[in-house]
Amino acid sequence: MQNGGMHTDPQMTSTADGWRFPTIANLHSHAFQRAMAGMAERQTDPADSFWTWRETMYRFAAAFDPDSLHAVASQLYVEMLEAGYGSVCEFHYLHHAADGRPYADPAAMSRALVRAARDTGIRMTLLPVLYMTGGFDGRALGDRQRRFGHDVDGYLALVDLLRNEVDDMIHVGCALHSLRAVPPDAMQLVLAALPRDMRIHIHIAEQIGEVQDSLAIRDARPVEWLYANADVDERWTLVHATHLTEEEMLAIADSGATVAICPTTEANLGDGLFPLRDYLDAGGAWGIGSDSHISVSPVEELRWLEYGQRLVTRHRNIAVQPGSPSVGRTLLSGVAGSRARSTGFGADDDHVILDASAATLVGAGVDDVADRWIFSGNANVVRDVVVGGQSVVGGGRHREHEKIAAGYRAATRLLMQA
Ligand SMILES: [Zn+2]
Repeated sequence: MQNGGMHTDPQMTSTADGWRFPTIANLHSHAFQRAMAGMAERQTDPADSFWTWRETMYRFAAAFDPDSLHAVASQLYVEMLEAGYGSVCEFHYLHHAADGRPYADPAAMSRALVRAARDTGIRMTLLPVLYMTGGFDGRALGDRQRRFGHDVDGYLALVDLLRNEVDDMIHVGCALHSLRAVPPDAMQLVLAALPRDMRIHIHIAEQIGEVQDSLAIRDARPVEWLYANADVDERWTLVHATHLTEEEMLAIADSGATVAICPTTEANLGDGLFPLRDYLDAGGAWGIGSDSHISVSPVEELRWLEYGQRLVTRHRNIAVQPGSPSVGRTLLSGVAGSRARSTGFGADDDHVILDASAATLVGAGVDDVADRWIFSGNANVVRDVVVGGQSVVGGGRHREHEKIAAGYRAATRLLMQA
């Protein structure tokens, strides 16, 4: 089955001295993790896994307050814009003070992220996360998870508080952390209370351990359970969805939901490999996210998305579609299609201009410029970025590059002493 509607032509055009593309949507971000990138790459145990990485992440998460979150997120968004991302879905669960008590403004941490988006000029779909339990068995959150937690009423009140931030540049959606963190009855209550057009994001089937726990306690795999218990449609973004049966993969493709694939993070955490080729054959919708921000580059995400498939199949040029033999163009079509579905932002003039004089783009034409952007070299060829009519990057540099980098250095030194 081919579903041509899932993919949007990236509409690249040649300008006088560059190549113009739409900005890329970053479908999955935990901004605070930018400050710990590269700091969990030492073996602590021969069985190091996602779950030991998570312990490091929790220790680090405990140190943040609204000011440090603003400084780290601002640096991250500058890096995103300079790399060609124009919008970000911020999957935000650091809600409360480290002891679990709400701040005087219960939305203080959310507003720090909104401020970072406004200061840098990136479009943001803020996804406050509902996080209630520490496992499928319904156990209470652990000490280090306390600042993540809400009950259903507290969560809906937070979503409501954030409504007054919404405008052309800031949207608010809903994130369910995962099936292990949201009990079934709470999921139903929240979904019933939300406006019909709200975007919904959820981490799902990232780890084999999560699939096994779901089978043991809910007698169904995570994606299988979700589709049996929620009306999953185009409003939904399923983050990771790495471990799928054929039936689950087809259910996602048929529902119109978008899979947010995070290739560099999934590789870094040893999650597994998304079944991209089968999913493309089923007409499935997908996009990319930089998630833990060990890399902030759509080029690297898309390159590794394709290379992972090549390594396991021992073939080349996997991500192609009928009528689209160019891998780069097919990948950019996939991410272009994901933007409106996952972020909720409509058509606009946001774009990047690639530097046509860059060594890797010399002599490029409309047929191969996408391939050469994604598959050649490591120098960033994004020269200009325009978001919401504002020029935010010129000559490869964000307009506030130095000031924001200085704020980041100061905040990160303090975080590392905490
Ligand atoms: Zn995530």
